[in-house]
Amino acid sequence: MNAEVLSSTRAAVNQAFDQREVVLAAEAAKAAAVAAKPAAKRKATKAVKEAELLAPVDAPPPASPKPSVAVVATVAADPTDPLKTHPSRLQKIDLAKCMGRKIVISKWVPGTHKDEGGVKKFHPEGQCTAAPATGEALCAKCAEQEALAAAGKRDAKKWFGRLDLPLYEFAAVVGCKQYIECYPNGIAGDPLSIPPKTAEAPAPSAPKKAKKAKAAAEVPVAIAMANLDVTEAEWLTFIQKSGVPAIRNLKTQMVYAVDASETDRAKMAKMDEVLGKWDTEKGEIDPYGVPDEE
Ligand SMILES: [Zn+2]
Repeated sequence: MNAEVLSSTRAAVNQAFDQREVVLAAEAAKAAAVAAKPAAKRKATKAVKEAELLAPVDAPPPASPKPSVAVVATVAADPTDPLKTHPSRLQKIDLAKCMGRKIVISKWVPGTHKDEGGVKKFHPEGQCTAAPATGEALCAKCAEQEALAAAGKRDAKKWFGRLDLPLYEFAAVVGCKQYIECYPNGIAGDPLSIPPKTAEAPAPSAPKKAKKAKAAAEVPVAIAMANLDVTEAEWLTFIQKSGVPAIRNLKTQMVYAVDASETDRAKMAKMDEVLGKWDTEKGEIDPYGVPDEE
């Protein structure tokens, strides 16, 4: 990383955020109003209930009548959207406005342009400035785009998801699924853009071919216990017709009760609980020869 790149990242992003000045200014005004409660603003402040001030991102917009002072929510940490803190992302949502996400199409997050070695452009995030339709979270235009997207007819230049829902796959902003596919290791020179590593599922190891396939086949209701490797040991676990697990020594053919607290097969056999001797012709336990302990 170098400071120059970071600094230019910030500069470009700040520029992109100019559009949000109105929102931020409104927030400042609101804070002042709440603190001082001047008579002139009391009416408006009254309308802004405390609960609304603390409303999380996914809260519905305040019901009408709309407060004349903008209610701004600071985005909360979201485990499903870990790059929400990236400087290109919207940090304040105006709850009085439409919840449609807008992007600054004419700008891009530094480093994402192909000319800059990027894979695909991603954009600064913004908010639709239209008033939501009465009782709705979206304005009429955004609602129309959302419906088209839901019907699989998304207009890629008009719809980028909602600010009050989990980050839309095609939001075109840092952190969305499409972004992570393009920049799994982040944008060059931008350490804030690196997606956290998700624990990769371990590659499923190919199940070893059961060299004891024959032995397994001869077990009537044989279900090798799922978490055990049948192939290695001289021990074979199986479920008896009675439904009770048992373990058989493939060399001696002696069958024992299972100590389920053990995961090591060699230790699973309860040597003092012999169930019988396996009859390989009949495919069942022959109790003959079992020491009669009773
Ligand atoms: Zn809108």
